[in-house]
Amino acid sequence: MQRILVIEDEKEMVRGLRDILEFEGYEVSSAETGKEGLEAIARREPDCIILDLMLPDMGGLEVCELIRARGLGTPILMLTAKAQEYDKIRGFKAGADDYLTKPFAVGELLARVMALLRRRGVYGRDEDVVRIGPSQVDVKHFLVRRGRKEYSLSHYEVELFKLLYARANQPVSRDEILDRVWGTESFPTNRTVDNFIVKLRKKIEEDYRNPRHILTIYGVGYKLSP
Ligand code: CA
Repeated sequence: MQRILVIEDEKEMVRGLRDILEFEGYEVSSAETGKEGLEAIARREPDCIILDLMLPDMGGLEVCELIRARGLGTPILMLTAKAQEYDKIRGFKAGADDYLTKPFAVGELLARVMALLRRRGVYGRDEDVVRIGPSQVDVKHFLVRRGRKEYSLSHYEVELFKLLYARANQPVSRDEILDRVWGTESFPTNRTVDNFIVKLRKKIEEDYRNPRHILTIYGVGYKLSP
């Protein structure tokens, strides 16, 4: 049974999450503070962590950083009260894999959790290097290796890759990519997304003109097929 740890101090929210996740067959444990959460992780590493941004003793991002500082790659889904209070770039930098704004639909929560667990299941624990077709993508060191070639990745290329990877095999719209990677504060366009996709393809794909892994979903956006 896959284990999910919920770190959140709002009892109603914890109860709701527990009901939803247990109904789906997950084993759920919870912690009310960042400190308790870190202790729970040390006792028995969960398969996925749902982490609230606002905790009584420390911020969710700080907890996130502490988890990553221990060298753990456990997928982390951040919960945030309002989209605008969450700085996505900071979140990704702190090591969060995805985020969800409260209130959320049950289906949306489950889809995100499943995507994170699948990623972990397929690629094993604590991996910063993932294989995409002929390439190894090292998100920690901002590198792609393919054969004897090595390419460096920019910050936005890594963030774009991480988003597509967290949602592997599902289409992600250009709007969502813009929102999650660039944030609503800056003003890149859909064209920016397309340009960055080409950059990633050139580094990851064997033949970027005939991509086999970073796929265009016409009328929607892009999909990563590892
Ligand atoms: Ca909270």
